[in-house]
Amino acid sequence: MSLIYTPEEEAFRAQLREFFQNEYPEDIKETIRAGKRPVREQTIRGQKALAKAGLAAPKWPVEWGGKDWTPMQSFIFSEEVIENHIAPTNGFGIGLLAPVLVEFGTQEQKERFLPAIYNADQYWCQGFSEPEAGSDLASVRTRAVRDGDNYIVNGQKMWTTDGHNADWIFMLVRTDPNAPKRQMGISFLLIDMKTPGVSVRKIRLMDGEHEVNEVFFDNVVVPAENLIGEENKGWTYAKFLLGNERGGMSSATPFWRTLEKAKQAASEIQLENGTLMEDLLFRARLAELETQITAFEQTALRVKGTSADGRPNPGGSVIKLRRTELDQALTALMIDVAGPNARAFENDGLSGVEDWQSATIHTYLNHRKVTIYGGSSEVQRSIIASAILGL
Ligand SMILES: Cc1cc2nc3c(=O)[nH]c(=O)nc-3n(C[C@H](O)[C@H](O)[C@H](O)COP(=O)(O)OP(=O)(O)OC[C@H]3O[C@@H](n4cnc5c(N)ncnc54)[C@H](O)[C@@H]3O)c2cc1C
Repeated sequence: MSLIYTPEEEAFRAQLREFFQNEYPEDIKETIRAGKRPVREQTIRGQKALAKAGLAAPKWPVEWGGKDWTPMQSFIFSEEVIENHIAPTNGFGIGLLAPVLVEFGTQEQKERFLPAIYNADQYWCQGFSEPEAGSDLASVRTRAVRDGDNYIVNGQKMWTTDGHNADWIFMLVRTDPNAPKRQMGISFLLIDMKTPGVSVRKIRLMDGEHEVNEVFFDNVVVPAENLIGEENKGWTYAKFLLGNERGGMSSATPFWRTLEKAKQAASEIQLENGTLMEDLLFRARLAELETQITAFEQTALRVKGTSADGRPNPGGSVIKLRRTELDQALTALMIDVAGPNARAFENDGLSGVEDWQSATIHTYLNHRKVTIYGGSSEVQRSIIASAILGL
C-alpha cells in the first residue's frame, strides 16, 4: 500500500478531521484521550453523532449505510478515528451481529434491526459463552424449546460484556439436544433484554471495573421471528461471526500511536546518562516492537487481500493471535515508561501524575482479557495448525 496520498485522499482526510474536530462531542474525546472507558450514554451519543454524518458503519453494504470507500480511504478513516480520540461504536451490533443479519437474515429482520443498530437505538451484547462452554462453544446448554410462535429459553450465559448496558442480546441456544453432532443442534436467537425472566449479575474484573456479567434466562418467551436463518443451523452463523470477530480490528494504527506516545514520554524522562529514549536497551525493545507491528500490518493486509466475497478466512486467527499479543506487549511497555507514576491507580489530580500514566495499570490489567475472548490464543494456534498449516 502506497503511503503517498493523492490530493483527493488528502481532501478526504481533511473533511473527516473537520467533522471529528468540530462536530463530534468533546467530552467523549476527552474520555478516550484520558484512556478511560466511555459509559453507555457516551457510546450511544458518540455513535449517534457518527450516524448523523453517515460514518457509523463504513464497512456495511452501501444500501444499509455503509461506504463504498477505497482501501486507502478506509485506512485514512481508521487513522483519523484514533488520531481524534473517537469512541468505538457498539461493536457487538455494528461489527458482529450486522454482518450476520446482512448475510443470513430475512429482509424483514434486516429492516427491523439494521437501522436501529446503525443509529444506536439498540445497544447489543453477545451471549455465546456459558460456564461449561467457552473454548468448546459447541457445548452450549441454554435451551430454547419451540412452543407455537415462540421459543421458551432457559439457561445461563457467562462473561457477557456490556450485558448490564445492553437492550438486546444475540445468543447461541440449544434447540436439538439429540442432534447426531453437538454443532447440529444449535440455533442463533435474538432476545430483548427487557423480556421477563432475563436477569443480569455483574462480575468484577481484576482492574476493578464492571464490564462483564452472568446473564440468566428463566422461562423467557422469545418470538420465533427472532430466529436468524434456520433452526439448528446456528453453528454456521456463529462461525461466520467469530471469523469476523477474529479478523476484524486489523488496523495497526493504535499500535503506532502507542509507540509514538511511548517515544515522546521517554524522551522527557531523564536517567543518569541521558533520557530513557537514549537508553540502548529501551531502544532495542522499541525496535523489536516496531518490527513486529510492521510484520503484523503486512500480514493483516495480506489476509484482507485474500478474503474472498467478504467472507472471513482462517487468516483471521493469525490476526487475532498477533494483534492481542502485541497489544499486551504495548500495555506492558507503557507501564514501564510511566514508571513510578503508573502506581497512581486513581489519579487524584494532586500528585503531578498525568491521566495516561495512571491509566496504564488499568489498561494492562484489563487487556489480559484480549488473549482469552473471541477464542483464546491456544484455540487460535490450533486453528492455524489445522486450517492453514494442514497439520
Ligand atoms: C473479559 C472477557 C470478556 C468476554 N466477553 C464475552 C462476551 O461478550 N460474550 C461471550 O459470549 N463470551 C465472552 N467472553 C468469553 C470468552 O470467549 C471465553 O472466556 C473464551 O472463549 C474461553 O473460554 P473459557 O473462559 O470457558 O475457558 P476454557 O475454554 O475453559 O479454557 C481454559 C484454558 O484452557 C485452554 N484451552 C481450552 N481448550 C483448549 C484446547 N482445545 N487446546 C488448548 N488449550 C485449550 C484455553 O486456552 C484457556 O487457557 C469473554 C471473556 C472475557 C475474559
